[in-house]
Amino acid sequence: MMKYPFLDLGKVTAPLRDELVEAAVRVIDSGRYIGGTEVEALERSMAELCGTDFAIGVSNGLDALRLVLRAWVIMGRLRQGDGVIVPSNTYIASVLAVIDAGLRPVFVEPDEITMNLSGRTVRKCLSDLGDEAVTVKAIMPVHLYGRICWDNELAAEVRTRDWLVIEDVAQAIGAVSSTDGVDGGRSAGGIGHAGAFSFYPTKNIGALGDAGAVTTSDAELANVVRSLANYGSDRRYHNIYAGYNCRLDPIQAAMLSVKLRHIDEENDARRRNAEVYLHEINHPEIVLPADVADDNVRECVWHQFVVRCERRDELKAYLESMGVGTDIHYAVPPHMQPALSCYELQGKLPVAEGIGAQVLSLPISSATSQDDARDIARIVNGFTRI
Ligand SMILES: *Cc1c(COP(=O)(O)O)cnc(C)c1O
Repeated sequence: MMKYPFLDLGKVTAPLRDELVEAAVRVIDSGRYIGGTEVEALERSMAELCGTDFAIGVSNGLDALRLVLRAWVIMGRLRQGDGVIVPSNTYIASVLAVIDAGLRPVFVEPDEITMNLSGRTVRKCLSDLGDEAVTVKAIMPVHLYGRICWDNELAAEVRTRDWLVIEDVAQAIGAVSSTDGVDGGRSAGGIGHAGAFSFYPTKNIGALGDAGAVTTSDAELANVVRSLANYGSDRRYHNIYAGYNCRLDPIQAAMLSVKLRHIDEENDARRRNAEVYLHEINHPEIVLPADVADDNVRECVWHQFVVRCERRDELKAYLESMGVGTDIHYAVPPHMQPALSCYELQGKLPVAEGIGAQVLSLPISSATSQDDARDIARIVNGFTRI
C-alpha cells in the first residue's frame, strides 16, 4: 500500500457515508427503481449548477456525448459525415461519440501550456484544412484536467462559422469560464449549446458506479435526448426514434444528489492541493501546469494535476519507490489507438504525442491532505537531477 495513494475513492466517500446510506435506504424503500423523483431532483440540481434550462440524467459520460450528437443528426442540425473538431489529446470517449453518430472527428492540437484547444490552435487547424474547413459544423471543447476550454477567439470563431458547441464536461464539473459562452453562460456545461457530464467514480463528483448527464437550454434538443435515452419513445410503447437504453438509475441519482451538495468542498480541496504543488515544486526538469488568475480561480477545478517531464517514466518509478502513487492521463492519444488507425494520423499530431510521452498526474483529490501535498512536493523535488 502506497503511503500517498494516487486516488483513494473509499477515503473520498467516507465523510459522506451517513448521508449516502440514508439516501440509499430512501431509494430501497421507495419501490421506484427507474426514473422518478430521485432522478428529477438530480436533474434540477445539475441544471441549476450549469445555469441551463434542462438537464437529463443518463447512463454515463460517453452516452451523454453520443446522445447529443445523435440528436443533432436526427434534428437535421448535423449531417452524416460532417466534421466535428475534437482535441488530439483528449480521452478517447470524446472521439468515439463523434464516430458513433456517423460524424467525422477533426483532430486539433492543443495549446502546449494549457493542454486545451484554444482559438489560436483551432484557427491554425482551419487554415491547414483549407477548403475542407467548410465541412466542419461543430466543435467539442473538452475541459481537460478540469480546466475551462473556452476563450474570446474561440467564441468569435464559433459565432462566425455558426458551429454547434458540445462541451465535454466529464472532468470539469463546477468550473466557471471568464469568457461568455454562446448564449452568455459561463458555467461549464452552460457555455456551449449542450454539455455532457460523466459521474464515473474517479471524476470530481463520482457516482457509486456509472452515471452521466446532458445539460442544455435548447428545449427541442432536451426532448430528443430524453427520448433517445429511453428507447426513442416519447410516451409509453410509442417509439419515434430508433433509440437506446441510456437512463440514469435512481440509486445513482440519489448518491449524486448527496455528492453534489459537497461539490465546493471537493473542488476547494483540490485547488488547495494544486496551490501547494504550484508553490512548492521547483525541479528544473519538471514543467508545472499553468496557474489560474486570482480573479477566477474556478477556471480550473483540478480534476488532475498534470506535470510534464522528459524523464517521465523514471520520475514515475522514483515516486512509486517513495510511496507516492501517480497515474498517466493519457499515455497513448486516441489517434494512436488501434481502434482509430483507419484515420492514418500516427506521427502527424506531434503535440498530443509529446504530451502522451511526458505527462504524469500527481495525487490531488480531497483524500490527499495539504500536509500530504507538501510531503509529495518535497519528494518530487528530491528526484535526482542530471
Ligand atoms: C471520463 C470521460 C469521459 C467518459 O465518461 P464515462 O462516464 O466514463 O463514459 C468522456 N470524456 C472525458 C474527457 C472523460 O474524462
